[in-house]
Amino acid sequence: MTQRCLTAVAVLLMVGAAARAADLEVGFAGADITPKVGGDKPVYMAGFGHNRVATKVHDPLFARAVVLKHDGRKVALVSVDLVGFFHANVTRVRDSLPGFTYVLVSSTHNHEGPDTLGLWGQNPFKSGVDKDYLRDVEEKIVKAVKAADAAAKPVSAALGTAKAPELLHDAREPYVKHDELTAVQFLDGDRKPAGIVVQWNCHPETLGSKNTQLSADFVGFTVKYLTDKYHCPVVYLTGTVGGLLTSMHVEVKDVKGKVLPEDSFEKTERYGVLVGELADKALAGAKAVKLTPIEARTRAVFLPLDNKLYQLGRKVGVLERQAFLWAGDPYKAEPADATETKKPLCLKTEVGWLRLGDLEAAAIPGEIYPELVLDKVQDPADPGADFPEAPVEPAIYKQMRGPHRMMIGLANDEVGYIIPKRQWDEKPPFCYDRKKAQYGEENSVGPETAPILCKAFKDLVGGKK
Ligand SMILES: [Zn+2]
Repeated sequence: MTQRCLTAVAVLLMVGAAARAADLEVGFAGADITPKVGGDKPVYMAGFGHNRVATKVHDPLFARAVVLKHDGRKVALVSVDLVGFFHANVTRVRDSLPGFTYVLVSSTHNHEGPDTLGLWGQNPFKSGVDKDYLRDVEEKIVKAVKAADAAAKPVSAALGTAKAPELLHDAREPYVKHDELTAVQFLDGDRKPAGIVVQWNCHPETLGSKNTQLSADFVGFTVKYLTDKYHCPVVYLTGTVGGLLTSMHVEVKDVKGKVLPEDSFEKTERYGVLVGELADKALAGAKAVKLTPIEARTRAVFLPLDNKLYQLGRKVGVLERQAFLWAGDPYKAEPADATETKKPLCLKTEVGWLRLGDLEAAAIPGEIYPELVLDKVQDPADPGADFPEAPVEPAIYKQMRGPHRMMIGLANDEVGYIIPKRQWDEKPPFCYDRKKAQYGEENSVGPETAPILCKAFKDLVGGKK
């Protein structure tokens, strides 16, 4: 080979390398995380009452992963068909995945899967968690992320959104819905679908509290619909589900117009298909989007543990979670002794912000109220509220000024409801002239949760230490 040929080859190689460095690479993979039913251990189902033991598997539960790589950085976004996944579990997953800029694990908040938090065992004093199962899920998530990483290939991306308020029931006043679905489609070099990420805001609890068959609820049917239609892997991410956005009481009709019964598999499947069709609509109007460069930021945050039931749960060992000593600083706290019961305690969690080029994503560790995402906190507050003078929290979507935004809820933790402080309403008189309190506060760490998390997110995006 002559010198000139060598130079030409070198130039070609350099051009090739430059093209590769500029490309976004994306890979998908999944793992079946369905617990074994009918073995030596009962599977306690999460999300409603105690002692709901699974009798069979209706459809499998999955961990679904997408890995995005660019310019030496790589992030993994993982969705699990579970009610929640604590930060300690996520930390163990991350420890097994060195080399990643950021690993996010978000639960769909499935109410028809196993108890992974401890709150739904045989009785209020017994955890429903099978620790061996949790370890197994951690390992499977790691495997799925590694497989997605290995499968990554150059792609282009398109993003679209679509709204459907009719697919959501808001079970708590004030009625504010986050009714926008976001879908991102990746296309490979031959313009063939390489994968889809879809994000929607609804409790997966369509099958209700009486069902005893394990299922991914509507999410499984949405993923199936999109996988069959586009012949590519799909990752479904749960967004804003507090406040309370649910599929329950949403009137769902079959193709002939017949209303399908509440709590049925027919309604659940149809609802899943309707969300899939909403994603179709979003994708039909999708426009090319630049998802590079990649940047990720996280921050540890401490939340005062005011919830008496959670304190009790910790005492009796139902809620297994390291507590910290609350010293008034949301960014700093020392671990508390396991027997500590007198001093004020707090929990450690994490907020995250991810920028993928023109798309910004908020990673919020629980069930945030739509008011806090969309800047629609009630103003003025209802005089019946417990803290009507509390300032309106800085809204999540207000902090992200890029062209596209996405909310990822139950991200890297599940701390329960994140309620605007001036909408907190446990004590009489009650808001909206109600005779009794609305549901929500009993599943929140406390009234300071929203002010602290929203400010922490604002500080994080603003680069404030
Ligand atoms: Zn919930």
